[in-house]
Amino acid sequence: MNQFLSRRTFILIPIMSIFKFIFKPKKVLASSPASEEDWNLSKEEWKNKLSPESYYILREEGTERAFSSELNNEKRKGIFHCAGCAQPLFTSETKFDSGTGWPSFWDPIQDSVETKVDFKLIVPRTEYHCSRCEGHQGHVFNDGPLPTGKRYCNNGLALKFVPK
Ligand SMILES: [Zn+2]
Repeated sequence: MNQFLSRRTFILIPIMSIFKFIFKPKKVLASSPASEEDWNLSKEEWKNKLSPESYYILREEGTERAFSSELNNEKRKGIFHCAGCAQPLFTSETKFDSGTGWPSFWDPIQDSVETKVDFKLIVPRTEYHCSRCEGHQGHVFNDGPLPTGKRYCNNGLALKFVPK
């Protein structure tokens, strides 16, 4: 009997770990009590929620004019939140002056953004967006400062700054 049980356990364990690998549980962000489904809004719902300028950036992957955002010169300590769903995306510790005219950061808060490649300017660029509401934020380049070497070039209209 014991022998039978242990053999069954021996077989089950590797099967379980394969299942665990295939059915990875969805990441739950401690900082986001609202579920991702709550942010699956229609075009109309987003239009009602956002200013026309922010709608254009967040939902249509638009880009604001360089040097047009007040957040470009924001130097206070605080958190930069998604203007769509308020998820925290960047801390002031990772902000730097890139000289490009857009608020720039060298690292997002863990798991707060996701990337995809777009071909809007023919040359492939890596677009990134809020991991919760999928609102477009900007593009990430490999010419940023250490320690990451990344430059997250963000639209100010896609962010809401909350000073500490
Ligand atoms: Zn968001």
